[in-house]
Amino acid sequence: MHVERQKILIIDDTPANIQILNEFFQNDYDIFFATNGSDGIRIARLAVPDLILLDIMMPEMDGYEVCEKIKADPVTRQIPVIFVTAMSNLDDEEKGLTSGAIDYITKPVSAPIVKVRVKNHLELKRHRDMLEKLTIELDLKNRELNLLVRKDALTGLANRRYFDEILDSEIKRANRSGQLLSLILCDVDFFKSYNDHYGHVAGDKCLQTIGEVLRNNTKRVSDLPARYGGEEFAVIFPDTPHGGAGLLAEKLRQEMILRAIPHACSNVAEMVTLSFGVVEAQPARERDPVWYINAADKALYQAKEIGRNQVIIASFD
Ligand SMILES: [Mg+2]
Repeated sequence: MHVERQKILIIDDTPANIQILNEFFQNDYDIFFATNGSDGIRIARLAVPDLILLDIMMPEMDGYEVCEKIKADPVTRQIPVIFVTAMSNLDDEEKGLTSGAIDYITKPVSAPIVKVRVKNHLELKRHRDMLEKLTIELDLKNRELNLLVRKDALTGLANRRYFDEILDSEIKRANRSGQLLSLILCDVDFFKSYNDHYGHVAGDKCLQTIGEVLRNNTKRVSDLPARYGGEEFAVIFPDTPHGGAGLLAEKLRQEMILRAIPHACSNVAEMVTLSFGVVEAQPARERDPVWYINAADKALYQAKEIGRNQVIIASFD
């Protein structure tokens, strides 16, 4: 792995001090310097060094103020600051550390000590940076993965796996809340003959349009349109008012007709149509996901039996 040279910024109003420190570090690090506070802040923003060695006694803006400004700026906040100063009483040290510095080195500086301390801080900084980078990468990968495992690639709707997961948790939630939970299953009428006649590319486009219709008409965050299988779709519709799911299914049926995708081989219409089975029920002990799916499936079967392109609402109780 290529390791970039780390950058040190030295801020000191005495050029001789800068020279000494520069000699210590120039072989191992890229050195930047400034001879007053405001230049130092400007260069810190520009170069975003890995470490700042900061003098305290400077005219105009002293080291404490420079440090506070660096710590207040989101661009430079993460940069570790070490005070290098002739002041050596405990109060000064405390003031330095409370203004945001991580360490405190007293002048005259001893080469081996300064080198080791700077090296340690820079190594820590490198590890922190690496960890941060890895954490961000991991987070992005996880997000991608979450989407992948939840999404149906063709339609962009929830996939079967995610549908199963949500149906299960919504049933549990409805059990606690006593709310109605509805499930809509729908199926494309004569989809096999559509594919045979228009080809699979057109078939895929048709499924994508259905995905769009489902997505556009399920506006609540809790509604979950999903691709259930080949040409079967589902909508989980929690906290529904009585009759709400039937109405939504009817709306979806009509929206699909308005899309007017020609279907020369359909026996029920000139365009692609959908059949719907709807179940609207309050969860009970025996009403698990399988019960909901079976009930909706039975209604869907009836819709197919009595002529397709319609909505059948399951009756029970
Ligand atoms: Mg000074």
